[in-house]
Amino acid sequence: MIIVMKVGSSDGEITEVIKRIEAAGLRTHLSQGVERTIIGVLGQTFPELRDRVEMLPGVDELIPVSKPYKLCSREFHPQDTTVKVDGVTIGGKEIVVMAGPCAVESEQQLLETAKAVKAAGATILRGGAFKPSTSPYSFRGLGKRGLELLAQVKREVGLPIITEVMSLDEVELAASYADIFQIGARNMQNFDLLEEVGKTGKPVMLKRGLAATVQEWLLAAEYILAQGNQQLMLCERGIRTFETYTRNTMDISAIPIIEKVSHLPIIADPSHGTGKWYLVAPMALAAVAAGADGILVEVHPNPDLALKDGAQSLTFDSFRQLMSQLRPVAAAVGRCLATPSVEVKP
Ligand code: PEP
Ligand code: MN
Repeated sequence: MIIVMKVGSSDGEITEVIKRIEAAGLRTHLSQGVERTIIGVLGQTFPELRDRVEMLPGVDELIPVSKPYKLCSREFHPQDTTVKVDGVTIGGKEIVVMAGPCAVESEQQLLETAKAVKAAGATILRGGAFKPSTSPYSFRGLGKRGLELLAQVKREVGLPIITEVMSLDEVELAASYADIFQIGARNMQNFDLLEEVGKTGKPVMLKRGLAATVQEWLLAAEYILAQGNQQLMLCERGIRTFETYTRNTMDISAIPIIEKVSHLPIIADPSHGTGKWYLVAPMALAAVAAGADGILVEVHPNPDLALKDGAQSLTFDSFRQLMSQLRPVAAAVGRCLATPSVEVKP
C-alpha cells in the first residue's frame, strides 16, 4: 500500500502517519517529491489500520500496490533515482558509457584501454578481477592483483571503476578499490551477496540473470534496497532463448519496461547481450534510443588475443566509431553523452 499525502501536508502530519504505521509493526519508505509526498508501506496491512490512517490529517488517499516488488517500484518512489560516482551522475539527462576489457589481464592492457576509452568519451572504466566462468578451465581473473591494477590505472587515467564481486568474502576487499560493485548475471539471485553489497552503501549495478523475468530481477533489486542502499542501477545483458546465432537475446524492450515500473537507472550491455562485436554498436544505439541511461561495452587492445570474451570485444577504433554514432542518437531522444569527469578521488 502507498499513502499519498495532500499537497502542502506538514512535516508533523507526515511524521504522525509514519508513527502509526510503524507502531503496527510495519516498515515505511518516505518519498518526498516536488509536488507530492508518498509513504510506502512494507508488510501486510489490515482494514482497521487502513481506516485509521485514512482519517489522519494530511492524508489524501491510500492506494494498494499489487506488485510484489515495492522499494524499486515507481509507485513507492515516483522520481528517477540517480547514482553518483565521483563526478559522474547515472540516471539523469546524460548517458554514461562504461567501457573496458572483460577481464583485467595486465597493467599494459588495462592502462592502454583506459586511456583509449577515456579519450573516446567513456566516463567509467570496467574490468573484471574476479571472473565468473562457465568452464573451470577458462581464465578466472587475476583476483586481488586485478583490483590493484584497477586502482592504479584509476589514479593514472582518472576514471572511476566498476568491477564484479562473486562472493561474500570478496565484498570487503573490493570495496576498498572499486567505485561500483557489479553483480553478474550468474549471481542475480545470490541473496546473501545482494544483502552484503546492500550493506556497504556503495553504488551497485545488478545485472539481469541468464533466464530471469523482469519481476525476478526487480525482486533481486529489492534485497539491495532493503538494506538501505539506494545507489542501485540495473543492467540488461541479454537472456537465454532458443536462438543460438547470438550468445544471448538482447531484450531491448526490458529498457522501457524498467523505466515504466521502476525508478532505478537502467544500463544496457550489448557485449554480453549479443556475444558478437559487430552487433554491439547496433544494439547500443537501439538501447539508447529505447531510453537506456548508460551502456556497458567490452573493449580490448587486441580482441583476438583476449583471455576472455574477445569475440564480443570492440577494438579502440570500433569503440571510437560507436561513440560518434551514439551522440546523434542520444540527441534525438533528448539526451547527451556524459563527459569524463576532471577529478577522480584516488
Ligand atoms: C561481465 O560483465 O564480464 C560478465 C561476466 O557479465 P554477465 O554477468 O552479464 O555474464
Ligand atoms: Mn565479459
